[in-house]
Amino acid sequence: MKIENLTVRYGSFTAVDGVSIEVPPGGVVGLVGESGSGKSTLARAVSGLVPYEGRIEGARRIQMVFQDPYASLDPRMSVGASVAEGVRAPRAQRQAEVERLLGLVSLPAEVATRYPRELSGGQRQRVAIARALGAEPDLLVADEITSALDVSVQGSVLNLVKRLREELGLSILFISHNLAVVRYVSDSVAVMHGGKLVEFGPTEQVVDEPTHEYTRSLLEAVPRLVRH
Ligand code: ADP
Ligand code: MG
Repeated sequence: MKIENLTVRYGSFTAVDGVSIEVPPGGVVGLVGESGSGKSTLARAVSGLVPYEGRIEGARRIQMVFQDPYASLDPRMSVGASVAEGVRAPRAQRQAEVERLLGLVSLPAEVATRYPRELSGGQRQRVAIARALGAEPDLLVADEITSALDVSVQGSVLNLVKRLREELGLSILFISHNLAVVRYVSDSVAVMHGGKLVEFGPTEQVVDEPTHEYTRSLLEAVPRLVRH
């Protein structure tokens, strides 16, 4: 997926200002920046949810996963019904497909009969991911998907993202305000600040030799333990 010179305005306010990024097939691009820097607005433009100027090319089927899984899961629907809704398989194969999708995100098949409120935050986020995968996306846009989770389960969801990428060759735009989280899963990192792209390059390069002062300040906010 290629984003060229993307600009999104809310009235007279420019939330995304001339951003160009590319997510190669099977690649994971991390998008980082503080709250209000325009990350979710860029995600909304990529998903066709807000009007934009510029060009977005290459991804036909895009699925989004949000910080709050309730945004994609109807609390009145069983997990199985929610996951089945997005599935592209014919009706007769849907139940088997739901089980396969739950398996992909390391949830037991029995979870299909449960309701979102009966699950932990981490399990709900896994269900939201399974639901997105059912639509066979060629790009997954993950917007702050670990930000509302307990620190103790964030790592397991990040490892799930890594595994899905390896097993399915999924292309992912992985968005977080937390550079430690982004660097853990991404091949390359894009840094946004005030709607503008201030840095974009291979993860190692951005982390080890940041060219922009703002990236350095994000790095300083990352606890030493996870910087290694
Ligand atoms: P991030 O996801 O990086 O926190 P957002 O894309 O949500 O940033 O927001 C970028 C800027 O756009 C912020 O200043 C925010 O207040 C503003 N904004 C977001 N959504 C709207 C909207 N629907 N109308 C007006 N301004 C908005
Ligand atoms: Mg956001």
